Amino acid sequence: MKGCVLDSSALFYGKDLPSEYECVITPGVVQELRRHGMAERLELLLDTKVRELSPSILAVRAVREAAAKTGDVRRLSETDIEILALAYEMKYELVTDDYSIQNLAKVIGVKTTGMEQSGIREVFEWQAKCTGCGKLFTAEVEECDICGSPTRTKRKKTTKSRRAPGSRS
Ligand SMILES: [Zn+2]
Repeated sequence: MKGCVLDSSALFYGKDLPSEYECVITPGVVQELRRHGMAERLELLLDTKVRELSPSILAVRAVREAAAKTGDVRRLSETDIEILALAYEMKYELVTDDYSIQNLAKVIGVKTTGMEQSGIREVFEWQAKCTGCGKLFTAEVEECDICGSPTRTKRKKTTKSRRAPGSRS
């Protein structure tokens, strides 16, 4: 069975996970999703088709060294390093639309797939709403700039994303 490592955005925005793959995520991704109020969806995914795995220290070190060489290290979060290391170690494909991650993946020989190409065609749009004053933000804003309250992520609407050229129908 082929496998793929998913980054946070694939779970955050993606509706259908590729069913022909074994999907794995890292503890860092789990944390990011919890932080964005996605705990419920996450539990469901972990119960069904997504497994949580940690990369080995050796794999993390290898990715960190490669990132230092290419200069990507400053643009990559701990979680980015972690998912790269896991894909590297498992020889799985990495599903991500993040350019810095894709760049380093190429250097260390990890195959990457964009969300559309991976078959995650339907896209959720999320927005964040302040739990204090109700102001709306883009999904990645975690704290309100008006009243300082934490935001909660909610689904805005579902849109069909453009199909990638050459992808299967
Ligand atoms: Zn507020």
